[in-house]
Amino acid sequence: MFEQPALKTLGREVARVGRLRAALGLLGWDQETMMPKAGGSQRAAVIGDLTEVAHRMATSPELGDQLAAAEEEASQATDSKAGAFVREVRRGYDRSCKVPAALAEEIARTASETQATWAEARREDDFPRFQPFLEKLLALKCQEAEAIGGDAPLYDTMLDAYEPHCTAERVQSLVDEVKPRLVRLVQEFAPKSAKTPPLQGGFSVEAQRDFGLSVIKRMGFDFDRGRVDLSTHPFCSGMNANDVRLTTRYSEDSLESLFTLVHEAGHGLYEQGLDPEWAGTPLGASVSLGIHESQSRLWENLVARGSSFWSHFLPSLKESFPGRFEGVELPEVLRMMNRVEPSLIRVEADEVTYNLHVMLRFELEMDLVNGRVAVGDLPGVWRARMKEYLGVEPPTDREGVLQDIHWSFGAFGYFPTYFLGNLFSAQFYEAASKAMPDLEAQIARGELLPLREWLQENIHRHGSRYPALELCERVTGKPLEASLFGDYLESKLTTLYGAS
Ligand code: ZN
Repeated sequence: MFEQPALKTLGREVARVGRLRAALGLLGWDQETMMPKAGGSQRAAVIGDLTEVAHRMATSPELGDQLAAAEEEASQATDSKAGAFVREVRRGYDRSCKVPAALAEEIARTASETQATWAEARREDDFPRFQPFLEKLLALKCQEAEAIGGDAPLYDTMLDAYEPHCTAERVQSLVDEVKPRLVRLVQEFAPKSAKTPPLQGGFSVEAQRDFGLSVIKRMGFDFDRGRVDLSTHPFCSGMNANDVRLTTRYSEDSLESLFTLVHEAGHGLYEQGLDPEWAGTPLGASVSLGIHESQSRLWENLVARGSSFWSHFLPSLKESFPGRFEGVELPEVLRMMNRVEPSLIRVEADEVTYNLHVMLRFELEMDLVNGRVAVGDLPGVWRARMKEYLGVEPPTDREGVLQDIHWSFGAFGYFPTYFLGNLFSAQFYEAASKAMPDLEAQIARGELLPLREWLQENIHRHGSRYPALELCERVTGKPLEASLFGDYLESKLTTLYGAS
């Protein structure tokens, strides 16, 4: 913590709010994993009350005064940590204070109604029922963005909630650069990978659990500072670096749970790698959802779907599932794990097509916010663009525009972080490979700790000290480049399936 008195006071107060939010995170984790079914309504009341207390603390005029005094001190400080600290506290404080209480309340209420309506509308495949709720929520979120950002483009302010300091223009230029290449990769490799059968059926849950846990232990996930439980939708929730909760789910149908667990453990390693001295403050918190996602994707896709990894782990995979991989050798296993297949549902999509799903959502959000597409036109535009990008068209809205939960609770600006995460992951992995020429050989020996240490040293321990795009530049020596991700995919797929 800081020596200067105002910075020290601010640090202490901000950490108190942070601890309260960690308690809220724990209540949320419990709700998804342990809470008895009947506990729901009381739990919602507790969460509502505590959220209000945290909000009051985070927006109090006293905190505003402490922040102003700390900003004064930070401007004199020689250490850039102080500047980064007040920059991020100011960002959060202004975002919370600038929204009038009545508007914040109306958004919370409308979001909860809209989410409930979305669940019904999705079940019944009834978009018109959802439409007026989404229209209202979108209008409110635009009002909120205007209150926070003033003259800034509305979408930039929405994006800033998840990917601070990034702009729609930057995302758009990255999308424009990589999209045509992804469309081409899908056209080339989907027919080729259709010849390989998917990994389906015959994976006992117990063996999956044992195998998955042994893998994340090798990655360095510390079970004295974290745990793994079951939930319907897998997630990672970090109270602080010493208490990180992962969840996963299992199905006998596929090995997806392995990749899900590795993905969540990638998030978990980021949380465990944060500096505990700064717990509850921006310097001890993840910098953006894009960087968070880069850590999960790096482990899930670049490591755990790669040939080095499986050249070590395939024998133990075969032992875990006797008979399941008989006569199947490494190249075929890798093809099974890296199939490219256009599909309707984002969360089931492969590494290549996933990005096109996300780009479609980003572009539609921009169009909605900028008034180029009306909410009522979404289903039709969705179908047309799916056809254009992926060559498939959803027969129902349930498999189309109604599939994701995000818009129903007002999370506009969230989707680009998935795509940014993929771009960051390829660029970080390239930098790690340069820094550690032995990296592939280490992974092929099942030694995963050196990579985790590199990530911790270069990314995790900084918390939010550097904005995401600046962090990327510091770590990799160059600005975020979309082409690296395209290069990585193309080279991997060409190796697996052959050039055309
Ligand atoms: Zn994730």
